[in-house]
Amino acid sequence: MRKENGTLFVIATPIGNMDDISKRAVDYLSSVDEIYSEDTRVTKKLLNNYGISAKLNSFNARTESRKIEEVINKLLDGKNIGLVSDAGTPGISDPGIRLVNKALTKNIKVSGAPGANAAIFALSVSGFPTDSFVFEGFLPQKKGRQKKLMKLADEERTIVLYESVYRIEKLLNEFVNYMPHRLIAIARELTKMYEEVWRGFPANLLENLSERTLKGEFVVIIAPKNFTLD
Ligand code: SAM
Repeated sequence: MRKENGTLFVIATPIGNMDDISKRAVDYLSSVDEIYSEDTRVTKKLLNNYGISAKLNSFNARTESRKIEEVINKLLDGKNIGLVSDAGTPGISDPGIRLVNKALTKNIKVSGAPGANAAIFALSVSGFPTDSFVFEGFLPQKKGRQKKLMKLADEERTIVLYESVYRIEKLLNEFVNYMPHRLIAIARELTKMYEEVWRGFPANLLENLSERTLKGEFVVIIAPKNFTLD
């Protein structure tokens, strides 16, 4: 007799503060047959923190294509599989969406535990309108970057971007050119010791940059056109 399919559990993990994990996330991480994670060393530390031992396999941007079939076969064989990324919600600027899509097309149940996500937390502490927003993740590093910035300058809604520490200054300089009158919020090191949110016009933020520590992780939020601080 054919075994029942297992379930794919998409499990959100903290974006900094280890207390930001849900009880259900811990339950799933403890009970699934195997966990697929972006970086097994990072996940091992997380699991140790909660006293969980589990079979860990890697699933990252480089291996995603060939790992999908492996994971699907395990699910079809009745195993429950957990999917985690290094931090936050899998599939959001992280690998996982293609696996979820494949599982659903095979009628495999997908569930999981929602939780931390840098974009949503940044929005909620930015003070900028959240009734309508666009998430653009990381801008292209080279090809297509200028075109995308031009398009974003025309976007009316709040825009959420991820940016690395290496390009945050470059990004602010680009804003000075493409959208000098849009208010910007930079949310740095969310949920961590040096968490802070800076807001201002691109030129002001650049001016103050030398006084700031340019370290860590950043979410950049662009306020809607005509939004003012009052
Ligand atoms: N899947 C993750 C999520 O749910 O937020 C995002 C993964 S993406 C590869 C990593 C980017 O998210 C970082 O470069 C940064 O832009 C943002 N990020 C993650 N953690 C953050 C934090 N604690 N503070 C600010 N930004 C963060």
